[in-house]
Amino acid sequence: MKLSFRPYELQLKHAFTLATSSRTTTPVMLVELEYDGIVGYGEASMPPYLGESHETVARFLQKVDLSGFNDPFRMDEILEYIDSIESGNRAAKACIDIALHDLVGKIMGQPWYKIWGLTPENTPNTSFTIGIDTRDVIIEKTKEAAEFKILKVKMGRDNDKELVEAIRSVTDVPLCVDVNQGWTDKYKALEMIHWLNEKGIVFVEQPMPKEQIDDMAWLTENSPLPTIADEAFQRIHDIPKFKDVYTGINIKLMKSTGMHEAKKMIEVARALDMKVMIGCMTETSCAVSAAAQLSPLCEWADLDGNLLITNDIYEGMKVINGKVTLNELPGIGIKKI
Ligand code: MG
Repeated sequence: MKLSFRPYELQLKHAFTLATSSRTTTPVMLVELEYDGIVGYGEASMPPYLGESHETVARFLQKVDLSGFNDPFRMDEILEYIDSIESGNRAAKACIDIALHDLVGKIMGQPWYKIWGLTPENTPNTSFTIGIDTRDVIIEKTKEAAEFKILKVKMGRDNDKELVEAIRSVTDVPLCVDVNQGWTDKYKALEMIHWLNEKGIVFVEQPMPKEQIDDMAWLTENSPLPTIADEAFQRIHDIPKFKDVYTGINIKLMKSTGMHEAKKMIEVARALDMKVMIGCMTETSCAVSAAAQLSPLCEWADLDGNLLITNDIYEGMKVINGKVTLNELPGIGIKKI
């Protein structure tokens, strides 16, 4: 198996503003894994707040030596080796995992949702993110997003209610809210959630700072809406401690080190009676389509990362009438544009 990679910079359609930062580009690493003339595609996305970069991913990938593996089907062994090279480096590990899944699926001639035995009609609607902005821009962005059956609103600043009111002046579609740890007072958070509950919100993602675990458990117990953990966790071993702290988890391939662990994470969450959402970073259709393969197993999807950029180089999973729509292409279901 031969691994090659190149850095790439995603250009965002709108500046991406969260409670704590704003940016217009996202660095990614595009990966190809070749075996017997077949090429699997993978991608690492490195939003700066997660600590990985073109440099760290390149450094990690240079350490990868696949010469000892002659059979790409031995995925457990290969990915165990990748994980053992160095701790952290989750996005770097994810790009190899995705490329390996794409490669193996292509050798088998089937997309992964079929290999896993999943029903493609069970894919959820994907939310589309309306970033923090002025009232006029929010209204304009909401109108542009008319195709979507659920919208995601970024919160955690002092104008949270105004944002929701602005969106509600345009549409009645269900909304979900991502606070990105922006609320620090649990009583105010609960008051806000009660207000949101009256406005047709379906869940609240990462309402409080990840360190405030006791406050979060209290909030979840009292909240009329489901609460979803995002920044609070990365990998599978983090999940059990969140039973009764959050209602559900937001799995992202760039946190989980790829599809292999993400699938197991869904199983662990189910065993703990937790809800599951599948999310993404700003990514091309490569990593988004890889995540979409898992989406029939999830209550909610937030797979709009490829729709927020202007320079995608792949075509894959599509959003049709707001719904994640899988195709028949083998592997992760993409082709180069
Ligand atoms: Mg989030």
